[in-house]
Amino acid sequence: MQAHARVRTLEEAPINPAGTHVLYWMTAARRTRSSYALDRAIEWARELGKPLWVLEALRLGHPHASARLHAFVVRGMCDNAARFEASPIGYYPYVEPKLDAGKGLLAAFARKACVVVTDDWPVYFVRNMTRAAAAKIGARMELVDGVGLVPMSAPDRCFARAHDFRRWCQKHANVWLGPAPRVNPLARLQLSAAGEPPINTRKWPAAPVDRTTALERLGQLAFAREIPAIPDVGGSQAARARLRAFVATGLERYAERNQPAAEVTSGLSAYLHWGQIGAHEVLRAVLASEPDWDPGRISELCRGQREGWWGMSPAREGFLDQLLTWREVGHNFVWHHADYARFESLPAWARTTLRAHASDERPELYSLEQFEAAATHDPIWNAAQRELVSTGAMHNYLRMLWGKKILHWSASPRAALEIMITLNDRYALDGRDPNSYSGIGWVLGRFDRAWGPERAVFGKVRYMSSESTRRKLRLNAYLQRFGPG
Ligand SMILES: Cc1cc2nc3c(=O)[nH]c(=O)nc-3n(C[C@H](O)[C@H](O)[C@H](O)COP(=O)(O)OP(=O)(O)OC[C@H]3O[C@@H](n4cnc5c(N)ncnc54)[C@H](O)[C@@H]3O)c2cc1C
Repeated sequence: MQAHARVRTLEEAPINPAGTHVLYWMTAARRTRSSYALDRAIEWARELGKPLWVLEALRLGHPHASARLHAFVVRGMCDNAARFEASPIGYYPYVEPKLDAGKGLLAAFARKACVVVTDDWPVYFVRNMTRAAAAKIGARMELVDGVGLVPMSAPDRCFARAHDFRRWCQKHANVWLGPAPRVNPLARLQLSAAGEPPINTRKWPAAPVDRTTALERLGQLAFAREIPAIPDVGGSQAARARLRAFVATGLERYAERNQPAAEVTSGLSAYLHWGQIGAHEVLRAVLASEPDWDPGRISELCRGQREGWWGMSPAREGFLDQLLTWREVGHNFVWHHADYARFESLPAWARTTLRAHASDERPELYSLEQFEAAATHDPIWNAAQRELVSTGAMHNYLRMLWGKKILHWSASPRAALEIMITLNDRYALDGRDPNSYSGIGWVLGRFDRAWGPERAVFGKVRYMSSESTRRKLRLNAYLQRFGPG
């Protein structure tokens, strides 16, 4: 078996050739296409001549579990089940019916495994859960670094600015531009048939994979908080449909992305977050959409320049800059900082200036509950919060304003950080992601520089106001849609 740049061994147990199967514990790349982890698991199954089992599980007790997040994932499970059904791979979707009912399931699946492959996900409880599981199960466990175009492990340093990360990507294109994961690894796949699941299926019954039943079943779960599901979102099919629609109608107008009314952004962040679509598939679709594009058009300049890098239309280059530079500078940050969600992880200049202004008088002061209920004095802020609560998403420009005003109207920068993380992780379909913490960190100065004039509360951290947002954006329709109703 060839060493693979994206694979590292988490638990150094030897491969067990007498095992009955290879196990892929699917936690972050919840899809069947363009997935390095699935490719790796298939490679092992081929090499060892064993069946492959894929375990995709969903816990009830994770800190932000809700009908909203569960429904998104469960729709994905139904899509995955249909795809695996037509392949020799065994697929086991599991949704915990009761708190901790899934305890022991992974160990049971791994007991007779030759090797376990899983996804490398650098944040939230998954980061620690994976490491703890590796130490417990006793089988060899491999982590596959596949959530980005750039392997998180490739840059040997953490970048303070997007510009520096972009320059690194330009300089090291050979490291990350290839080889891509297989577009459709299930096509004409020949492996030993999976047979019966290697676990006690009465103790851990598989989740239903018929959509209606699967979603109905969620009604029986006792979630800590009532946050309703969003209709018709979730799953690889929906992700791919959204990608096609975006490439056909939004991409060419992407320069208007700051206008909520233009509706030209991809809406893919939640699908990317849950791994229901991979960044490689998105990149491929964008490259294919530029007439006569070929890799020879990529600029050889490595100056961190945003325009003229890909040799594509400005709209496409703008989009790829979000998908690659901004999304993955966030991956780079959390990879190097286990304290990514803490005030201490902010740049020194930002901590200093925020501390110096921590006791400034706030023009307004709201609690988490008031923010959550969209009960501030500001109709734009309230509309953004209502968008988050009712749709599970928020337009990027308003998300920046939303964060800046939480900083402005909270008792301290630390309190603001906590409030942003709680609301974003609780309601956003794309929350609990490296980019949750980099977006929220940006509000407090991360990936940014000091600005003047120095202001109350913000100090030298970049300021934003609802008044200038109202002047810049066409907000009438937005305010009507997300008004107090
Ligand atoms: C306070 C705050 C919190 C945020 N929380 C999250 C979060 O929880 N999860 C999340 O994925 N993003 C977060 N972002 C970044 C950004 O708001 C979203 O990625 C973007 O709005 C998603 O919409 P889209 O998929 O239509 O993006 P598009 O404009 O279509 O962009 C394509 C993809 O590029 C990436 N991307 C776009 N903008 C950014 C950005 N500014 N930073 C990093 N990546 C970006 C996303 O993966 C996105 O899906 C946050 C930003 C702020 C200011």
